[in-house]
Amino acid sequence: MPENQYDIIVVGAGIIGLSTTLTLLERHPDLKIALLEKGDDIAQQQTGHNSGVIHSGIYYRPGSFKAQFCVEGRASMVKFCQENEIPYREIGKVIVASDDVQVERLKILEERGKANDVEGLRLVDQDELAELEPHVKGIAALFAPKTGIVNYQDVSRVYAEKVQNAGAEIHLNSKVESFERHDGLIYIETESGEFSAKNIINCAGLHSDRVARMMGVDPGLHIIPFRGEYYTIKKEREHLVKHLIYPVPDPAFPFLGVHFTHNMKGYVEAGPNAVLAMRREGYRKRDFSIGDSWETFTFGGFWKMTARDWKTGFYEMNRSLRKSVFVKDLQKMIPEIQKSDLGTGGSGVRAQAVDNQGNLLDDFRIAQTENAVHVLNAPSPGATSSLVIGNRVADMVEETFALS
Ligand SMILES: Cc1cc2nc3c(=O)[nH]c(=O)nc-3n(C[C@H](O)[C@H](O)[C@H](O)COP(=O)(O)OP(=O)(O)OC[C@H]3O[C@@H](n4cnc5c(N)ncnc54)[C@H](O)[C@@H]3O)c2cc1C
Repeated sequence: MPENQYDIIVVGAGIIGLSTTLTLLERHPDLKIALLEKGDDIAQQQTGHNSGVIHSGIYYRPGSFKAQFCVEGRASMVKFCQENEIPYREIGKVIVASDDVQVERLKILEERGKANDVEGLRLVDQDELAELEPHVKGIAALFAPKTGIVNYQDVSRVYAEKVQNAGAEIHLNSKVESFERHDGLIYIETESGEFSAKNIINCAGLHSDRVARMMGVDPGLHIIPFRGEYYTIKKEREHLVKHLIYPVPDPAFPFLGVHFTHNMKGYVEAGPNAVLAMRREGYRKRDFSIGDSWETFTFGGFWKMTARDWKTGFYEMNRSLRKSVFVKDLQKMIPEIQKSDLGTGGSGVRAQAVDNQGNLLDDFRIAQTENAVHVLNAPSPGATSSLVIGNRVADMVEETFALS
């Protein structure tokens, strides 16, 4: 096979592109695979800007991919961390209800969690909540003792090491710009030169819809970027947060609501909110791209979503601009928390797939087309579930591609 020709090219070296390559090489060690990554390092986008939670699978509708992938994903992630000496912590999580309506929603979440076989999940009353989280105000909570934390960049580095040891190549600074099919091969033009492959796996995260379109595929959705902003809790106030503390989520939205998390870097964060970003990699409020914004604003689905959810959008924008509003939401869980306890934190941008009707896609979406598999929607708990998603994509590859 010529030097720049491969059996499979994977676009995107985030946690999903890496886990997929790892699984494929475990099953088919002879495959010649290259990962093309536009950044100058792996795992710098969603994978490097998330809450670092190993989710346990509570929220997801039984039977959904999220439910299946997350529960199995948590177990496989913990095993992988143990086997590869990646630091992680099984810290446990509480979802706190502060009124009767939320208690009813909590019961639905408990049912879902139990249907999904979430290990150790149980409802706790006000007294037990006070023992678990002395500074939290709530009338009941759902306790998930197995929820953990890890740095997903650490995980990705180990995936990358393993795929390279198994013979795959990772080409950094190689933004994929176009595809062309001829002579039974797919030719890929990138910033670092031309590659060719028999098959493509699209794991481009925030750009997965564009990569699909570049291949002539209509994915039936657009990625709308939603920035999630975090604050850090000052060291001397970290004792207010013992576990991970979440509100009861609004069932109409795929986001979990601003929450408190410990992370493996050794600090406590509050966030993320969910604000429309004006650039796909718009980590700062001032980041703007004419091209990205044009694509968002000329997409009919965006306006249908806005017509329906404008109140929530406005609330999120207001909360993003006014720290006092953010603090008020946090005080619903921890009344003692003050504005002065919050320092500037980081941010992440979610690749939220929205369909032509303006619906925010909640579940994972993976599509097969001729000689290609496209991971089109991999929201949270995508990092937790990465090994299971890798397995699923590998199954689809085996069904779709002629691998011999
Ligand atoms: C704020 C936030 C919080 C989250 N919290 C959690 C959590 O606590 N737990 C959890 O399990 N999940 C969480 N998630 C979800 C999780 O981070 C994602 O599911 C996961 O990182 C998706 O990985 P990916 O590889 O698909 O995408 P990415 O990590 O975005 O990787 C895609 C890669 O493709 C590359 N790329 C894009 N276009 C091109 C191109 N044209 N050519 C070459 N390369 C390209 C990008 O540079 C990037 O490296 C969170 C996400 C966000 C944003």
